[in-house]
Amino acid sequence: MHMVAIGGSDAGISAALRAREVAPGAEVTVVVADAYPNFSICGIPYYVSGEVTHWRNLAHRTYSDLEAAGMRLRLDTTARKVDVAGRMLHLTGPDGAAEDAVPYDQLVIGTGAVPVRPPIVGLDGLGPADGVHLLHSMDDTFAVMRTLEETGTGSAVIVGAGYVGLEMADALSERGLAVTQLERLPEVLPTVDAGLGALVRAQLEGHGVAVHAGTDVKRIDIAATAIYHGMTVDEVSDLDLSYTPPLGSPGTPSRWAPRPGPATRLPGNPPPHPLAQTPAVRPRRPRFHPVPATHSPPRGPPLSRSS
Ligand SMILES: Cc1cc2nc3c(=O)[nH]c(=O)nc-3n(C[C@H](O)[C@H](O)[C@H](O)COP(=O)(O)OP(=O)(O)OC[C@H]3O[C@@H](n4cnc5c(N)ncnc54)[C@H](O)[C@@H]3O)c2cc1C
Repeated sequence: MHMVAIGGSDAGISAALRAREVAPGAEVTVVVADAYPNFSICGIPYYVSGEVTHWRNLAHRTYSDLEAAGMRLRLDTTARKVDVAGRMLHLTGPDGAAEDAVPYDQLVIGTGAVPVRPPIVGLDGLGPADGVHLLHSMDDTFAVMRTLEETGTGSAVIVGAGYVGLEMADALSERGLAVTQLERLPEVLPTVDAGLGALVRAQLEGHGVAVHAGTDVKRIDIAATAIYHGMTVDEVSDLDLSYTPPLGSPGTPSRWAPRPGPATRLPGNPPPHPLAQTPAVRPRRPRFHPVPATHSPPRGPPLSRSS
């Protein structure tokens, strides 16, 4: 029996591991569009903060561990077409061109979700080069880290105050950035009741995060000329963000200077997860230290078979 899983994150790897567990003789192939199988996406904010000191430490298992568990990994390989009648999966490789087809008996699709790009005027066409980021994958993470490390920006605006937005407020505050958090609904963490959300908001504000709840971001403008090296945010609902990309030359006047002194830390963070005791995820450090240059994000394919 040949099982093929498309997707190398929680769903795809869990399916592959379980298949080998219940059918040790099964041939299992995992097709992964990127080069980061079995990475902790949930741990990304803690890498951004500097608490997880190297991106490789986000890996739950190494490539070798996964192969030793009996699966064949095809990294940088994208599933393009399923031929159900012929039980054949069509793939392209890293260059997007080389076609390949893999026969399967069982197929598991674990390709995750796509981040929503909210309908904000001006957002289309903006991306990491403009200092505008979505956060979903390791590649997104490396883009965020490049912006942080290469621009030395002192401030960030986070659109959304769900749990990922809150984790990023913590992470960026921990790095010493001035964080502004915008939430359309009347209170932060809108999936819980408003009373608890108010407590969370008080913690955010107590640690220097400027929270604007009940605030709908309508438009982002890239300023023609940079007076402030940051965003202008007013205490109004239906915000227009006059926005200057943070990629200015050093010394550009900064409205939102990094805060001096000990970095803040939101005490709302849960105690270290049991995983924090493993070498993969290290416990929270008491204060921010810059991520060493040797830990800069990779520029090329980062995960070798020997890693
Ligand atoms: C910043 C952040 C923090 C989070 N924190 C938490 C948390 O604390 N707790 C929690 O429970 N959840 C958390 N989540 C959510 C959690 O990470 C996701 O629920 C989980 O990653 C979903 O796993 P998945 O395998 O379904 O999909 P994904 O993690 O999205 O993985 C999709 C996989 O499919 C691959 N893929 C996609 N298309 C193709 C294709 N055509 N061919 C081949 N491969 C393809 C991708 O390369 C990837 O390997 C967090 C998410 C983010 C972004």
